[in-house]
Amino acid sequence: MQFSIDNAKIWVPGANGMVGSALLRRLKKENVEVLATTRNDLDLRDTNEVNLFYKNARPDLVILAAAKVGGIHANNTYPADFIGDNLQIQNNVIVRAKKHGVKKLLFLGSSCSYPKNCSQPIKEEYLLNGPLEPTNEWYAIAKIAGIKLCQAYRKQYECDFISAMPTNLYGPMDSFHPEDSHVPAALLSRFHDACKKEQKSVTVWGTGKPLREFLHVDDLADACVFLLKNYSDAPALNIGTGEDISIGDFAKLIKTTVGFSGDIEFDTSRPDGTFRKRLDVSKIHALGWRHRIDLESGLKLYYQWYLEGMMK
Ligand code: GDP
Repeated sequence: MQFSIDNAKIWVPGANGMVGSALLRRLKKENVEVLATTRNDLDLRDTNEVNLFYKNARPDLVILAAAKVGGIHANNTYPADFIGDNLQIQNNVIVRAKKHGVKKLLFLGSSCSYPKNCSQPIKEEYLLNGPLEPTNEWYAIAKIAGIKLCQAYRKQYECDFISAMPTNLYGPMDSFHPEDSHVPAALLSRFHDACKKEQKSVTVWGTGKPLREFLHVDDLADACVFLLKNYSDAPALNIGTGEDISIGDFAKLIKTTVGFSGDIEFDTSRPDGTFRKRLDVSKIHALGWRHRIDLESGLKLYYQWYLEGMMK
């Protein structure tokens, strides 16, 4: 049976992040009132602030995408922030959601929470069946704790708290920090700069051999709304395209998107991270959702957005 979100007040914390802003775009198509907060309005790590927000704003539904996020280097360099901030954010938002009578909550995990050497494609039930990838275990453990918290509230108090496992994302409002960003943002800006400066080559981290699955954030936002309406169960559901590409080939696609004509070099002193983490998306497909934006057109949209930002 469909869960109706009609006329609901939906809280989207982290509303100026990549996922949060995509959720705002998507929720415009629904008959809902959106309560958007950013880290400037509300520090989600602060229990009192979160409590007060719930008390005053009284949301019916929550989509918790706000998190301390970053790429392989950031995860490895700021482990305390990645585990500490994320645990605090989730505990505050999820525990208080029950206290304040939230009717449904969607928590976003991450595909990096699956064990490092998972069978491929990764099914939902592989969670916690092996050791994690060390470069992002801090973030992964926090995300696993968030999923378990939702499951515990579902089990003990019958709260309709659900979780999802998005694959690697890209899209508008991505963070373009040269060291701390994820690979799509890092490569898009590096190839763009190389083009402008007429460089001979661009450096890509690692061997180029690892495989990654990339989803445009507008598809993720669409899947989140779909899950709110159509999913109510304990397992964290995979959200992705079910297709992956090597980092080397991904770099070539970005090179073409940007129109760079030089060479690609690999810096093997940088970590590769997990070799492969392709999601099995058969469950969400069976429910009736699939992604719409293929990688090639998604990257064109991404670059167009990037260029528009440059002109501002
Ligand atoms: P991960 O999926 O958690 O490993 O996150 P990332 O997006 O940071 O990295 C994905 C893959 O891209 C890894 O194998 C990286 O080594 C590779 N990669 C290649 N160049 C870059 C870069 O400039 N920045 C980042 N973050 N990763 C890169």
